[in-house]
Amino acid sequence: MSNDINNTQSSPAAAPPVWGNGKYEAVIGLEVHAQMLTETKIFCGCPTKFGAEPNTQTCPVDIGLPGVLPVLNRKAVEYAVKTGLAMNCTVARCSRFARKNYFYPDLPKGYQVSQYELPICEHGSVEIVVDGAVKRVGITRIHMEEDAGKNIHEGGGPYSFVDLNRAGVPLMEIVSEPDIRSPREAAEYMKKLRAILRYLGVCDGNMEQGSLRCDANVSIRPVGQKEFGTRTELKNINSFRFVEKAIEYEIRRQVKLVEEGGRVVQETRLWDPAAGITQSMRSKEEAHDYRYFPEPDLVPIVVDQEWIDRIEATLPELPDAKRERFVSAYGLPEYDADLLTAERPVAEWYEAAVAAGGQPKAVSNWMMGELMRLLNEENHPIEESPLTPDRLAGMLRLIDNGTISGKIAKTVFEAMYRSGKDAEAVVKEQGLVQISDESAIERAIDDILAKHTAEVGRYKAGEEKLIGFFVGQVMKAMKGKANPQMLNDLLRKKLAAW
Ligand SMILES: [Zn+2]
Repeated sequence: MSNDINNTQSSPAAAPPVWGNGKYEAVIGLEVHAQMLTETKIFCGCPTKFGAEPNTQTCPVDIGLPGVLPVLNRKAVEYAVKTGLAMNCTVARCSRFARKNYFYPDLPKGYQVSQYELPICEHGSVEIVVDGAVKRVGITRIHMEEDAGKNIHEGGGPYSFVDLNRAGVPLMEIVSEPDIRSPREAAEYMKKLRAILRYLGVCDGNMEQGSLRCDANVSIRPVGQKEFGTRTELKNINSFRFVEKAIEYEIRRQVKLVEEGGRVVQETRLWDPAAGITQSMRSKEEAHDYRYFPEPDLVPIVVDQEWIDRIEATLPELPDAKRERFVSAYGLPEYDADLLTAERPVAEWYEAAVAAGGQPKAVSNWMMGELMRLLNEENHPIEESPLTPDRLAGMLRLIDNGTISGKIAKTVFEAMYRSGKDAEAVVKEQGLVQISDESAIERAIDDILAKHTAEVGRYKAGEEKLIGFFVGQVMKAMKGKANPQMLNDLLRKKLAAW
């Protein structure tokens, strides 16, 4: 279906995809809203827990009663600065809040407190990898703002409900430069932001609960043209898959429109995941009509160098640096390093297993294969894995010293996972010790060869691939416990002497 995407075949300097038979390219910028993981709201002491009964986490400050004064949550500033530093931004020594005026029932004050002219962080960048090519996406700004409440239309009555638990919940808005050129890049960029935010511990990245959501600005222009085309804004996209699908749909829609002689109009559109289309949405307000003005109830935020230094000292090793170190220190392929460093707890689990004596590539294989499979089956995060890193290392030792075969190890691994016991206990209990007794293996081989004289004849006549058949038969007869190397050697010897 996608014959109008000119996907360059993994050339290192991958050209951006073009659309409409090569005539157009897309220009995409993302605005990502991340809920900060503070205990309390941005301007009051109300809790920010998800899923509480409606309107149980509100107070006069966040519902906008007259006569109250907001007090800025210091932790929110710290988190925003931390994020800015991790994304190579300049941190403003002095920034301030503004009132963004619009009236809507989920915002009883009639304005949202946000940052406008003087955001806390600016001019950063993050790197993404698409088809093996590294690409830098600029970060225009990161600013802080409060979330609004939620309107609930339920029951079909001639009224709606308003839940203000979210009003005043601290958000960061991370605005990218229009550097993104394809739906894939957009998804990779968003994944990278999520990984960084989670490494920093400033946002839980839970997209289903709305802790991370994004608006995408999408336009197209003829290839070679410098000026941007008219853009549309896609609102509230809450999964990586939807980012990709919504943007792709929107690009195709715009190309088709222009090809048919129409014009793209600047508007806000909503992605409908069920229908797989974007739809025009009447916007709350004409764009740029918010009449921002400085928030008079909050003093400017002053961040001195000493504070910046203190925050910088708490930055963990970030995903990109960790990935590179996993390649250089452990000799892992890029692919493994990428998967193992996408989430900080996974990377930490890996390093613990290697520190416990596991051979780096073997640990990686078992984690990416069996461990991820079992965790996914029950939807468990790795922190809740009943199997510990030192137990995996213990099992690998049993393979290395010949106690169990790699094949039996799969059974041992699963049993360790299910029971929480260590490898030695499992092997003992289930009698899984590998058989390295030469005479036992020889007996089994003799038995199988005697049963399959026809195949032996074909093997002798040159059909060498039958060796696999014999190995399989002997293994089966010995319940998978034969030492594979011994079995192979003895089998070849027997066949040669047949
Ligand atoms: Zn409150």
